[in-house]
Amino acid sequence: MTTPIYLDHNATTPCAPEVVEAMAPFFSTQCGNPSSIHLLGRKAQAAVTNGREMIASMLGCEAPELVFTSGATESNNQVFSSCTLSTGTRRKLVILSIEHKSVLAPAERLSNCGFTIQTLGVDRNGTALVDSLDELLDARTLLVSVQAANNEIGTIQPIREIAERAHACGAFVHCDATQVLGKRSLNVYDLDLDFASFSAHKLYGPKGIGTLYIRRGQARQFISPLLLGGGQEEALRAGTLNVPGIVGFATACSVARDKLPSDAERISRLRDRIETHLLSRIPEATVNGALSKRLAGTTNITIPGISADTLIANMPLVCLSGGSACSDGTISPSHVLLALGLSREEARSTIRIGVGRYNNQTEIDFACTCLVTAVEQLRSAS
Ligand code: PMP
Repeated sequence: MTTPIYLDHNATTPCAPEVVEAMAPFFSTQCGNPSSIHLLGRKAQAAVTNGREMIASMLGCEAPELVFTSGATESNNQVFSSCTLSTGTRRKLVILSIEHKSVLAPAERLSNCGFTIQTLGVDRNGTALVDSLDELLDARTLLVSVQAANNEIGTIQPIREIAERAHACGAFVHCDATQVLGKRSLNVYDLDLDFASFSAHKLYGPKGIGTLYIRRGQARQFISPLLLGGGQEEALRAGTLNVPGIVGFATACSVARDKLPSDAERISRLRDRIETHLLSRIPEATVNGALSKRLAGTTNITIPGISADTLIANMPLVCLSGGSACSDGTISPSHVLLALGLSREEARSTIRIGVGRYNNQTEIDFACTCLVTAVEQLRSAS
């Protein structure tokens, strides 16, 4: 094989061909700004309206409850930044220890603005310790934010149960559901959410477009804009709408809905094939996270004695991720893996594989062979 094998679908996905095709005219002939009143403006506006309705039906909400953003990072930030305008006695927030950095960082900033951030822990599988939530919640809790599924280990959280407990004490509930959309069916009303964040590029849509679900009523009153300007999105997000992005996002939702059951079944079979192959051929390799309640394509494997970064560098045709993140020029082990109880060394020896819609068995088998060979070489060299 000479073309790269892409096994990093939790980081991002390729655009589905249906998505590219649907977006194409909106880069050229259908170039209108949806705020313009002429024909092409109205056509762009119609595309946005249709897109919003499609996405809302995928999420199980009403179209006006969605604000288009640049992605889940912005959606998450908008929810947390809205807290700063909240007056009253509720000054505490609860977040899960293994949230994405786009939740952790804005939460940390709030801790410098007079809010108390409390962290809900996870067990060895990465599942929220729901019973500990009751000890954290009280009449001063403003917001509880828990992700639907983790981007590194794939563990799925009991969101409905968490929302029920948080609402019982009068707190708002936010869910970063970025990793779940398109992979499992999801309904924001059934989960009883006030806010939820999404990015199109995790479900074979384009990068740079996402949405924030804001439940109508009190939750809507709570949210303030991050961006001020032209008053778009009912003044909740100023800026010219990303029409091709919205069309692509909506198409990705429509395709995902059609393919969801068959994709999930096929992708988890390929993921299981990888695990069987690697665990039987690499001594001491172990899988991290929940084995049953997890995303179909995700596996996170610790290979003792190996640096994941070196391993990845030794397999130029296999694209996957390691358990460390490079930020500010320093390599730090994944906070998710540390929260599961892994040592820094184990986190450094961990790889994440994300199987996707367009992977096939030949690719999977080739990638597994490359992995086993590279591990054997590195182990024999050390
Ligand atoms: N939350 C989760 C769980 C994610 O996996 C990601 C993407 N890695 C984000 C938020 C941020 O998404 P984006 O980069 O599209 O803003």
